Amino acid sequence: MNTINDLGLYIHIPFCKSKCNYCDFFSIAAKEDEIENYITHLNAVILKQSFSYNKAMVQTLYFGGGTPGLLSATQIGSIINTAKSCFMFAENPEITIELNPGDYKQTDFFGLANSGVNRLSIGLQSANDSELQTLGRRHTAPDAAAAVAMAQSAGIGNISLDLIIGTPGQTQSTLKQSIDFCVAAGVQHISAYILKIEENTPFCKMESSHFKTEDELADLYLFCCEQLESAGFAQYEISNFCRLGYQSRHNMRYWNLQDYLGIGPAGHSCVNGRRFYYPRSFKDFYAGKIVQDGCGKTAEEYIMMQLRLATGLNLIKMNEMFGEPDNIQQFAALCQKYEPMGLLKFKNSTITLTRQGFLVSNTIIGDFLTLLP
Ligand code: SF4
Repeated sequence: MNTINDLGLYIHIPFCKSKCNYCDFFSIAAKEDEIENYITHLNAVILKQSFSYNKAMVQTLYFGGGTPGLLSATQIGSIINTAKSCFMFAENPEITIELNPGDYKQTDFFGLANSGVNRLSIGLQSANDSELQTLGRRHTAPDAAAAVAMAQSAGIGNISLDLIIGTPGQTQSTLKQSIDFCVAAGVQHISAYILKIEENTPFCKMESSHFKTEDELADLYLFCCEQLESAGFAQYEISNFCRLGYQSRHNMRYWNLQDYLGIGPAGHSCVNGRRFYYPRSFKDFYAGKIVQDGCGKTAEEYIMMQLRLATGLNLIKMNEMFGEPDNIQQFAALCQKYEPMGLLKFKNSTITLTRQGFLVSNTIIGDFLTLLP
């Protein structure tokens, strides 16, 4: 039995109609009966896992993928009902589903809203149809506009759109076109990720000359942040922006090292300081295999996660939680190296990375980690 007070629940839906050119998430193309079998097993695993967490209050439920939008609204509803019958849920849980434009019709959005879905994360990626083709996406910008409008008319008032920064062929002008699209759509949240070339993807096999240089990526990222800010979307994390009060409650749990339980192949968990995950394999998932992955909620993780946030890393709080850093002077000295470069600010015992700092966050964070014993 785990003595945790609250929990974020993540459900992985590992199916996609086709594979996008940049993506290495775990997903396969599946037939309807395979999806049905998966849901049946998933519901059984949710029940089984709930026995270990029957004192925990679920604050957030997140359907990620893959493409959860490939499941019908009824199937999503059945999983939500299973989760609600197995776990205790907070009074006002955030229930998010990731979907792609074109996945659902108007009636489906009403069905999702009736099942308790109150947040959508829609994979727009770009509002420029040529970029969408390059990325290997199946939708067009009008499909995305229609999806947002249908969701809004179903009463779902918390919608996030994903954007990709650095698609081959992207310019400041096409990026602005995508940002303007998001603003005009009236959404509350935007995630803007810098394109990363993952191994074993079609992009990985392309000539590197097709892709932006680091300097070009940095310029586009900074341009994106400024545009979003002037449109009223405050940056609260390296890649995340929102209207006031619309931070992703589920993702904030990851960055604040709060407990979360991930179910499904490639679903990761961190509960009670213990990390574990389901391997990226259907066979293993059906066989109930779980891999223990060591300790979580360490000072190291805290530094890594908090420095991603615009609120930054508070050294006093960190000291209360971990007894680290036992010599705040060393942290302050390292800040003096980066502060004149415009990469971070150190004020009131709190280190916050600037946008320029976010661009080189791996290096800066790595440097702070060397100060831990
Ligand atoms: S980006 Fe999304 S829709 Fe495309 S292959 Fe990856 S998980 Fe599937």
